[in-house]
Amino acid sequence: MYLSIVVPCMNEEASLPSLVERLAAVIEPWSNRAEIILVDDGSTDGTWDLIRAARKEVPQVVGLRLSANRGHQVALTAGLEAARGKRVFMLDADLQDPPELLGDMMLMMDRGYDVVYGRRAKREGETLFKKVTAWGFYRFLNALSDVDIPRDTGDFRLVSRRALDAVLAMPERTRFLRGMFAWAGYDQIGLEYVRAPRAAGETKYPLRAMLSFATDALTGFSTRPLRFATRLSFCSLLVSLLMAIYVFGSLFLYSTAPGWASVVLAVSFFSGIQLLTLGIMGEYLGRLYMEAKHRPLYYLAEEARSLEPVPSPEN
Ligand code: UDP
Ligand code: MG
Repeated sequence: MYLSIVVPCMNEEASLPSLVERLAAVIEPWSNRAEIILVDDGSTDGTWDLIRAARKEVPQVVGLRLSANRGHQVALTAGLEAARGKRVFMLDADLQDPPELLGDMMLMMDRGYDVVYGRRAKREGETLFKKVTAWGFYRFLNALSDVDIPRDTGDFRLVSRRALDAVLAMPERTRFLRGMFAWAGYDQIGLEYVRAPRAAGETKYPLRAMLSFATDALTGFSTRPLRFATRLSFCSLLVSLLMAIYVFGSLFLYSTAPGWASVVLAVSFFSGIQLLTLGIMGEYLGRLYMEAKHRPLYYLAEEARSLEPVPSPEN
């Protein structure tokens, strides 16, 4: 097997038919040594039926159905673990990432790169809010993390077998795959493209999902927020020192006891700082707890692949 394509799909029945059609066209040059792995991430619509139906027209399609919705990154991981190709191409089901870039990415990999990632030069058809938050997120993440995670990239990329194996060897449950690939190292290069609007259906990343994705990325790739708590405590020490001087001084200056405003301010300031640092520690502690449980990331409920002998990755 030379080429594996991995696509996580959650309630994507509207874009699946054109996705399969375009992927089938794109794998033409390698069609007898390619597989298209469609991972159904606990969809509640007809996604799984469509995947099974697609297998009749495009024999390279392999369907995996997870036992429940596990989220984009885990669904992608499930597909990557099943992939047998020497090169693995991953993209979203909604055709925001043009499959037609595969040819260019393959050429760049021929030149010796292990990871060719798509860099979004422009996002079309997305809300201003999404564009602004995404822009800020990648910059903030890079400022905090020690790993250089390429800006404005998604999981849309072509990776070599050894880069993929490096990532699959990482046991963590909180998966931020684009960061894990960056951490794995090897030679990486970006390919700019214009991110198209969603082909059909609506986004599966509401604000809540975006926030938890961002916290996973931050906590997974940086412990700086924890150190930030210590620094913050120095700041608050300084403020309380100034306040002590003020309180002490006012003992001599005023006969009455005004200053309730400064008391209220001080109390709310310090309780704010305490809650913030507690919250930051809680985020890490919670993740530590989830990691410590060592639960499997996902279970396969169904697998639709032909029963021919499995070719080895060398072919
Ligand atoms: N997805 C998934 N499980 C989820 C959420 C999303 O498998 O719980 C898939 C989805 O089907 C799509 C990809 O992840 O193929 C990216 O999702 P989406 O396009 O909704 O995100 P956006 O492009 O809006 O950031
Ligand atoms: Mg999308």
